[in-house]
Amino acid sequence: MNTHEVTNQSEPWSGANLFDANRPLQEALACHAPALDTARLSALGALAGSADMLEHARLANTHAPRLHTHDVQGRRLDQVEFHPSYHVLLGGALRFGLHGTPWSAGALSHVERAAGFMLFTELEPSVLCPVSMTYAVTPALRANTAIAQAWMPKLAATTYDPRFVPFAGKSTLTMGMGMTEKQGGSDVRANTTRAEFDGDTEWGQAYRLTGHKWFFSAPMCDAFLVLAQTESAPKTPLASAPRGGASGLGRPGAGSGLSCFFVPRFKPDGSVNPIRIQRLKDKLGNHANASSEVEFGGDVTGWLVGDEGRGVAQILAMGALTRLDCALGSAGLMRAALSMAIHHTRQRLAFGKALAEQPLMKNVLADLAIESEAATALALRLATSIDATENRTDEHELLMRRVLTPIAKFWVCKRGAMLAQEAMECLGGNGYVEAQGQGVMARIYREMPLNSIWEGAGNIMALDLLRALRGADVAAAIERELAPARGQHAAFDAAAARLLGALGTTGDANQEAQARRLARDTALLVQASLLRRHSSDAVFAAFCAARLAAPSDVFGVLPAGLDVDAIIRRALP
Ligand SMILES: Cc1cc2nc3c(=O)[nH]c(=O)nc-3n(C[C@H](O)[C@H](O)[C@H](O)COP(=O)(O)OP(=O)(O)OC[C@H]3O[C@@H](n4cnc5c(N)ncnc54)[C@H](O)[C@@H]3O)c2cc1C
Repeated sequence: MNTHEVTNQSEPWSGANLFDANRPLQEALACHAPALDTARLSALGALAGSADMLEHARLANTHAPRLHTHDVQGRRLDQVEFHPSYHVLLGGALRFGLHGTPWSAGALSHVERAAGFMLFTELEPSVLCPVSMTYAVTPALRANTAIAQAWMPKLAATTYDPRFVPFAGKSTLTMGMGMTEKQGGSDVRANTTRAEFDGDTEWGQAYRLTGHKWFFSAPMCDAFLVLAQTESAPKTPLASAPRGGASGLGRPGAGSGLSCFFVPRFKPDGSVNPIRIQRLKDKLGNHANASSEVEFGGDVTGWLVGDEGRGVAQILAMGALTRLDCALGSAGLMRAALSMAIHHTRQRLAFGKALAEQPLMKNVLADLAIESEAATALALRLATSIDATENRTDEHELLMRRVLTPIAKFWVCKRGAMLAQEAMECLGGNGYVEAQGQGVMARIYREMPLNSIWEGAGNIMALDLLRALRGADVAAAIERELAPARGQHAAFDAAAARLLGALGTTGDANQEAQARRLARDTALLVQASLLRRHSSDAVFAAFCAARLAAPSDVFGVLPAGLDVDAIIRRALP
């Protein structure tokens, strides 16, 4: 007798074309970028869903990066070793141009890149950390013409070059960001890293950095934008001053302020810029990505980017783009979790029929589906505002770019973690099992909270929305954004009237303690409006009923009378 016959277990979610299967994404793109040729996205969808790439994702997450601080003779190395699968994945992301490519003229639109970023996240999100940072910092380099000319072409190039060698000999370059210090992350003004002027060079003003960064992800990137405090003294080279000179310069919050520095791993003369990697973070998820702690011992050189004392403004510009990627990433992970939940429940039988045919499971799946589609819609909408504002002036899109950034980052990332829990439960016990990285749902669950924390956690996003709302014409712009859905559903109209009333006052709704409520309400209405524009009647009706008329804390409580079958079929044919 065969004692090991496996029955009634689902096949792995593998081999699907993640773009061709994703009708919500296709229709959102058709609405926002009707002229876009989606052939490249379809090719990426096939790659990202392939068994080979899924195995690379498993291996890259199972074999975590290792830090080598010294060589066997005791010389500093400060290098991180990755599993070969990490390089395959990162190479795939760069080949598509998910990093700096949209900033080079005509190469790739931001919206196509955004769709590609979502698809790639379904495959593996951790390797996208340096990809996203490169995307975000590339435009900031324009504030230093010499560095921009030398580096920008290679930040947009698509042939991955993982070697730890000087930038001049590399085909492609990647970049990271260093803001967070032990004593303050959200409040970067608390940064204590000091920058002391060291002379004028071909790359502009050079400084010596002394201090640390408590989170410094992807330290094998070729360069970083780093925040440090400068002094206000006249610019005279400190060539003869002691290294890291403890001259009382750059006291926290003193001096001429926080400035932004370009800190490469190799200096222009080919010598190593001695960034000391202290250790790698032992993280809940995001295992394929190395996140480090670093120290700058006074002998690290950074070049000023932008004006001295304007570092916070520079960082905010970069942060806005990484926040877009957080929303895109969470939407991609939600889509992956939803696909696995539907795929599994269609195969698994319980109580005489497939789980996906059980009325209560249908309610859960349809509810997850509308959440996932609404996340995709909001994140992609934000991405369209980048295209509409980078090379032309569109006032409405400028306001949307400003307002939707904190809203999408806050709401999509928050909802992601909840959706992952429910999608995991659809898989039953197997959903909770890692099995040497084969349990993809467990990996998604561990990854989900990260997008909500980094690049500005939830409260910071909600407070940023309050700042955005102080701008002129913002309430009118939101009203215009909601217009396509007005008069289509009673719950939408009632919620829109409440929100617009609150935006029109400077009363309670704009107080700090209510900021999350405002961010949630705006997000839900913008999502509903987008679903009206490019989703089905069934999805729009369900979203209005379940998110605006009678919101619930738990998935699977859609009211009776909605076409759940149509919603699930649309989500995954
Ligand atoms: C895996 C990982 C990788 C990272 N990589 C990088 C990196 O490469 N570079 C980098 O610079 N940083 C990086 N970070 C750091 C990350 O951006 C910060 O952790 C994040 O910005 C929060 O800062 P903090 O940890 O100092 O928390 P805090 O600033 O102490 O915030 C703690 C909590 O307080 C809330 N809060 C703060 N101020 C207020 C307020 N005024 N009102 C109400 N609530 C408030 C926040 O929303 C948050 O929930 C990384 C973090 C992680 C987890």
